[in-house]
Amino acid sequence: MNISAPRRLALAHTPTPFRALERLSAHIGGPRIWLKSDDYTGAVISGNKIRKLEFLMAEAQSQNAGVILTCGGLQSNHCRATAAVSAQLGLRCHLLLRGPAELSEQSIPFNANELFDQGFDGNLLLDNLCGAKISIFSPKHYSQRLEDIFRETQQAYYAEKKASYCIPTGGSNAMGLWGYISAAEEIEKDLMRENISSAAIICASGSGGTQGGLSLGMHLLNNAHSVTGFAVCDSAHYFKHKIEEDVREWQQRFAPSTDFAKTLNISTNDGYIGPGYALGYPELFDCIRTVAQLEGVILDPVYTGKAFYGMLEEISRGAYDGFDDVVFVHTGGIFGLFPYKTDF
Ligand SMILES: *Cc1c(COP(=O)(O)O)cnc(C)c1O
Repeated sequence: MNISAPRRLALAHTPTPFRALERLSAHIGGPRIWLKSDDYTGAVISGNKIRKLEFLMAEAQSQNAGVILTCGGLQSNHCRATAAVSAQLGLRCHLLLRGPAELSEQSIPFNANELFDQGFDGNLLLDNLCGAKISIFSPKHYSQRLEDIFRETQQAYYAEKKASYCIPTGGSNAMGLWGYISAAEEIEKDLMRENISSAAIICASGSGGTQGGLSLGMHLLNNAHSVTGFAVCDSAHYFKHKIEEDVREWQQRFAPSTDFAKTLNISTNDGYIGPGYALGYPELFDCIRTVAQLEGVILDPVYTGKAFYGMLEEISRGAYDGFDDVVFVHTGGIFGLFPYKTDF
């Protein structure tokens, strides 16, 4: 099978470290837990999104886009990485953000400076420092009109004779999948170096591109590793549908003679979301503290903390008894920790 990857920019610092969490593994008993540190892909660009952006930004450049449009929550790691990398490449970045629940319909679009006293911290602060233009919408307006908002914003730039390139939530689409298809090759090399032929690979799932790319990448490599995404927002059913859709689009663009969307095993655990997206619970904050104290690894309450807590719970229930090795993909998110300081 000859599927060639599209052009990419070298933006992420890869290969990222791969190491065993010895103290934590001994602490919980059970399989050995390995850490694939994609929080080491860079400083300001830290995390999983930059792997997708290597491909997405290359496509934006090939289309001569001067403006990058993308969207996410107020503390979106994806938006922060996009803002930083746009600055690095000399492109304008415009972020369309879902504001806090209190935001009234009348104040749309909202001026980011007014958010200084409520949540102008973490990723949002970095977005602003990197020079991104920020438009904030009420949650209702955002969820009902996101497609229209993209289209209207793109038209406004077009009227100024500026070409813009749109990146969907989390950079998860056919092009974005390449980020973790190529990361799967990197993880395969890490595992081979450690003589591991069958591992359970675990990541947090928000928009599905990481889980989808890893699942498809491992499938293409034809190995015995399993991939499970721990959902932080939507249901397992949602992720199955979303990933199948992205993979189908990927096939159409990059591998038209294949049919993976049907045979791909998409495994999602949606049991550890808690009260909802970006909402924490006591066991989660305890887990983040334990991992920090045993290993010096910092997880965040929105993504990696929930997935890691879920992984430890599932290990203690015996769900991974068939594996000697479990790999946790640390997808970053450190800046999203700071707005939660009072919960610790
Ligand atoms: C976006 C994000 C995820 C989820 O990745 P998806 O590809 O959107 O599913 C996980 N962890 C962190 C820290 C993230 O920012």
